[in-house]
Amino acid sequence: MLSPNNRMSISSTAHNRDRVEEVLGAFLASPPAGTPDEVIEAFGRLVRTEGGVLPPSVFMEAFEQSPVAISITDLNANILYTNHAFEHLTGYPKDELIGSSQSILSYKVTPPEVYQELWTNLAQQKSWNGVLINKRKNGERYLADLTVTPVLGTGNNTRYYLALHRDVTEVHELESKVRNQKVLIESVVDAAPVVIALLDSDGRVLLDNQAYKKLLGDMRGKEPADMFMKHLSEVIEMDRKRACKKRTGFVNHEVALALKHNLTSRWFSCSGVWVNESYPGADFYFSGSENCGLLLVANEITAQKKQQDQIKTNALRALMAEQQLVHGMRETLSGAIFQCQAPLNTASAVVAMMERRDDVRSNPAHTALLDIIKSGETVLGSLQEALPPETVEADVPININEVIKDVIDISIQRLLEHSVVVDWEPEADLPNVIGKHYALRSLFKQLVDNAIDALDEPDCSHREIAIVTRSIDGQVEMIMRDTGPGIPEDRRLTIFEPFFSGWQKQKFRPGMGLTIALEIVLQHGGEIFIDPHCKAGCEVHLRLPVAGQTASLRTDDD
Ligand code: FAD
Repeated sequence: MLSPNNRMSISSTAHNRDRVEEVLGAFLASPPAGTPDEVIEAFGRLVRTEGGVLPPSVFMEAFEQSPVAISITDLNANILYTNHAFEHLTGYPKDELIGSSQSILSYKVTPPEVYQELWTNLAQQKSWNGVLINKRKNGERYLADLTVTPVLGTGNNTRYYLALHRDVTEVHELESKVRNQKVLIESVVDAAPVVIALLDSDGRVLLDNQAYKKLLGDMRGKEPADMFMKHLSEVIEMDRKRACKKRTGFVNHEVALALKHNLTSRWFSCSGVWVNESYPGADFYFSGSENCGLLLVANEITAQKKQQDQIKTNALRALMAEQQLVHGMRETLSGAIFQCQAPLNTASAVVAMMERRDDVRSNPAHTALLDIIKSGETVLGSLQEALPPETVEADVPININEVIKDVIDISIQRLLEHSVVVDWEPEADLPNVIGKHYALRSLFKQLVDNAIDALDEPDCSHREIAIVTRSIDGQVEMIMRDTGPGIPEDRRLTIFEPFFSGWQKQKFRPGMGLTIALEIVLQHGGEIFIDPHCKAGCEVHLRLPVAGQTASLRTDDD
């Protein structure tokens, strides 16, 4: 129980204190003669601290006027003192509080372990801080953030407990709302079927969703964010601060992430928005320094892309089939013209010889030859007229890697049927060449077809075509190596001549493919040759100038 003395000393009013200080001040200013020194010193302590600066009443006033609820209790938590804020917070008047237990505030739902912890700490003369559920006088509940500190007296014995407490209901509600919102956002982001990642200014992943984590697994440890950023560098504004300020981002930028093999890629449509992320450190509390992060959203479009590719490949295949048909007709008709031209030339020479030697007017052989020549020329004229016109194409910038990819796509069925493995290593940043799309596609198709035919020749067990592209000295080079029988040295130039066919299995081919291929290479100012140093199989080197320089057919001596 509270003693009357205690109650007096702690709850004296500010007015009384002022009055006491006034009287003591006047006494100490001119103490009556003979006042013992001990009395003067004891009275002096009441109006000054030990350093002589602040009188104890200032501390009382400070307690009283503090906006934090303060209470002082005895060792059984019986209240000896409360300040004004305490009354305000709890709704109890001071006279109801003094002498009551602090448990008057308990709403009786705080788990007993919390109180146990509080009292265990106090028993060890340690401060305790925690949150309790309190109730005001009107029964209203509130969350009290409570700090209790033992006040030690002489001999280090605990004499009182000092408690500071404040209502944190609103803060808790806000924190709960933020937490709930975070959980909600995370669940939505996690459940989203698109890849989402928040990257800091150094490109590190701060936050990601399940789809991102799955992609990370699929990429076998390669950070997808790094790969996305590498591809997106062209569309990302370099000045991050400005981008953040302007809130500019990018929308639906298509990116292909190469998987294990370059022939298979996963396609994503990427969008990004810049977000400001505040530095949490104390140093930035007022300056509000911000970090510019990127919220990256990537929607997988591999299926659509494959469908588009399929449509494109089918269209290309149809176009090429049509153009090949035209080429085939031109090839056959040219062959026929060539075949007719030779005997006609001979007949014309014989006629000229006959006419020079004798009178041929009555010579029936001469007449017959003239008839043959005439009808031959008529046939030749008809054949020339029947030649389908060549496709006229414009010169455009072309990426050879794309052309090769198209050709592989078009040839995929044939490659599968012949169990041929294609090992393709395209150079990542291959410069464009200037050329004709269809012509170059036909050229590469011819080379791939030849390589497949070569692998179909007898005694060819290993079936592989390796294609490499690279840029050297202002030229784009493509090297295609097959594991077929190879080309003997004496045929390395002949194979480019018209009507030459060296196939063992397909003997009756017209033999115009490489002739046309050479013509296309020369039209593009490039060069094509068979590597003389290749010991196993055949290695075709094809070089096309990046800036339109011309070159000619190489010989082995080059
Ligand atoms: P009680 O029987 O009072 O106590 C519950 C458990 O606390 C007991 O089982 C016991 O383990 C322990 N305990 C109680 N008294 C002591 C003691 N004297 N010594 C050692 N262990 C003891 N509680 C609030 O709910 N709200 C407050 O705002 C609040 N402020 C406090 C301020 C101070 C300075 C102190 C010292 C305590 C305060 N308490 C407060 C705790 C309060 O005194 C009670 O312990 C608590 O309210 C539980 O009350 P009860 O009646 O349910 O159980």
